[in-house]
Amino acid sequence: MRQIDNFINGVFLPASHSRRFEKRSPVDNRVIASIAEASHADVDMAVKAARAALNGEWGRLTQDQRVDLLYAVADEITRRFDDFVDAEMEDTGQPEHVMKHVFIPRGAANFKIFADVIKNVPTESFMTDTPDGRGALNYAIRKPKGVIGVISPWNAPFLLMTWKVGPALACGNTVLVKPSEETPFTAALLGEVMNKVGIPAGVYNVVNGFGPDSAGEFITSHPGVDAITFTGETRTGTAIMKAAATGTRDVSFEMGGKNAGIVFADADFDEAVNGIFRSAFLNTGQVCLGTERVYVERPIFDKFVTALKAKAEGVKFGRPSDHGSNYGPLISREHQTKVLSYYQKAVEEGATVVTGGGVPEMQGELAEGNWVQPTIWTGLPETAAVVREEIFGPCCHISPFDSEDEVVAKANDTEYGLSTTIWTTNLTRAHRMAGRIDVGITWINSWFLRDLRTAFGGTKQSGIGREGGVHSLEFYTELRNVCVKL
Ligand code: NAD
Repeated sequence: MRQIDNFINGVFLPASHSRRFEKRSPVDNRVIASIAEASHADVDMAVKAARAALNGEWGRLTQDQRVDLLYAVADEITRRFDDFVDAEMEDTGQPEHVMKHVFIPRGAANFKIFADVIKNVPTESFMTDTPDGRGALNYAIRKPKGVIGVISPWNAPFLLMTWKVGPALACGNTVLVKPSEETPFTAALLGEVMNKVGIPAGVYNVVNGFGPDSAGEFITSHPGVDAITFTGETRTGTAIMKAAATGTRDVSFEMGGKNAGIVFADADFDEAVNGIFRSAFLNTGQVCLGTERVYVERPIFDKFVTALKAKAEGVKFGRPSDHGSNYGPLISREHQTKVLSYYQKAVEEGATVVTGGGVPEMQGELAEGNWVQPTIWTGLPETAAVVREEIFGPCCHISPFDSEDEVVAKANDTEYGLSTTIWTTNLTRAHRMAGRIDVGITWINSWFLRDLRTAFGGTKQSGIGREGGVHSLEFYTELRNVCVKL
């Protein structure tokens, strides 16, 4: 059983009030770890350590020295690749291949890419006319924002946390990370990496716990935290924004989605089926960019539903390390209950259940895990709860459409605006639609194909701000202008 402590000022510490909580395995609900729950005093200590580092050794490093250290962090993650893969598999129950090929390499890349960005992105300058004819030079410099609160979710814990810690540190900030209470393993491991490569104490701090009246709220309400970057549910974002209003602290929010997948009759059929299968069911549907609403052009509707059904019925449930298994459970019993309640609601709303709708039969200890079947519905109106609300499970509703205007209107008829995926061989139409669908990220004939230099974020209730590449610098630095009279 793992013992996870808080990581404050370069030292692993139990909570000052000795409180701990249990972490269960998603695959069988056995208790697999004991986690220190940070007190208010612990968070305060971490904020002070982060401030001291900012004003101390870390703040005095040159950009080159900082960049070298971030490269060393990425290299050390790669050296300890198996430890990170094991920790994340144990934490989330998701298959080994997803960890090895997406989540852990991306975590390492998050340190390298932002080290490169900060080194290579220039700031602006302007020559300004003045009445005396001598002119003035304006130029901008970037300064770290300060102590950054990083609040992250459980669905891709390491990738999503490092997506924020990487740029924050590259820009010279210090961080206070609160991983999800469901998935604290890799944030702790990263503390070991930071110490090993010589990141000064206090630069990277981890406090564990929950949201309200716990570490999450202690961070967001702490006056010593200069800005808050958050990934999670829109409802939580609202609470954090209220807390951030005190002291008018800046926020960057990556939140929920109810993303549309759109398949035209002229699409490469097999690629579209495979693409929507991934977008609806990868990571057991626990991906913010996933497609829970699928719209298929009428001439291929029946054929598409049949093909997606066959793929959904082909998944092999099992432990991440089981040979031949490729499908994991949901993160927690609580989340399983929520997803199953939507499965029930879909039936009550009159859906045709094409496949799934329940819990797969599992043997032995696995029968205690948080399993749910990949589920496909058809036949519901756009007003149905399962078509409107983010479920965050392995499920989608598929409906037919007849025209581009109709499907654009349906795709946009949501309070969210994170991403969309469009499948067609008519690229003129695809480009046109990309401008019409109100989301932060449009994929054409692909999904989750990420270039970390591009802008990432959502419109409407899916987020505030953009991160990625140079856009991360906007949040993690203060741009200051210097005007020199010549
Ligand atoms: P969540 O909002 O429940 O929790 C996220 C984090 O916020 C956790 O660490 C939690 O402890 C903390 N938290 C909760 N209440 C808080 C409060 N009042 N103050 C401070 N912190 C608080 O989200 P989740 O269930 O962990 O993650 C799933 C959600 O995340 C989904 O809605 C999904 O769409 C979203 N998500 C979005 C993106 C994106 O990039 N847009 C990526 C991944 C997940």
